[in-house]
Amino acid sequence: MSVCIKDQIQNLNIVIGCTVGCPYCYARNNVNRWHMIDDFAKPEFFPSKLRLMEKQKPQNFLLTGMSDLAVWKREWLDQVFTKIADNPQHQFLFLSKRPDLMDIDTDLENAWFGVTVTRRSELWRIDALRENVRARHYHVTFEPLFDDPGEGELRGIGWIVVGTMTGVQSKKIHTEPAWAYSLTGQAHALDIPVFMKEDLVPIIGEENMVQEMPEEFNIVLGEQKKWHK
Ligand code: SF4
Repeated sequence: MSVCIKDQIQNLNIVIGCTVGCPYCYARNNVNRWHMIDDFAKPEFFPSKLRLMEKQKPQNFLLTGMSDLAVWKREWLDQVFTKIADNPQHQFLFLSKRPDLMDIDTDLENAWFGVTVTRRSELWRIDALRENVRARHYHVTFEPLFDDPGEGELRGIGWIVVGTMTGVQSKKIHTEPAWAYSLTGQAHALDIPVFMKEDLVPIIGEENMVQEMPEEFNIVLGEQKKWHK
């Protein structure tokens, strides 16, 4: 039975807001609906949430569920990086659609920097990520897949996620199973783990789902289970 990625990786929205302006942005809808901040186009930092990064129970955290790393101010990044370094029990993930705007150097062992690719014309983001973010771990999220991304250059990538559109806009989007299989094959040829999100089940079938995580994330999940005993 496939698992939900939100059970494996929890959102910690330490920054809310984004200026990238994707038309399908679900975060903007949620932020506006619940009035989390005054203006989604003016990102805000919530330093009070830094203490949540200190909890001892290990977790995999996504820190950009309602933002994009490229729009973070340097001083926000510095504070978050300090907390990441001080809390090696966790793994931390970041995502961006504008790696061309970033310039980051870090040797953090437990930080994963990723880009979202939704179509072939966005494959450049993977190269821009490797060029502009000098880090130990990279990942790529192919979601929502709007067309066949073709051959991606996945050298040095530590994890890929594949998914389709969810919610009210899902009826307008068709993701071909072949696109997911192609990405899976390309990743596996390089020994890169692949995680198909649960929204692919109706498209490719439960029996064809691949849900692999990097070893570092699996260690966190294993440690979590010990806390429940
Ligand atoms: S980059 Fe992410 S948070 Fe920003 S507008 Fe696009 S989908 Fe929304």
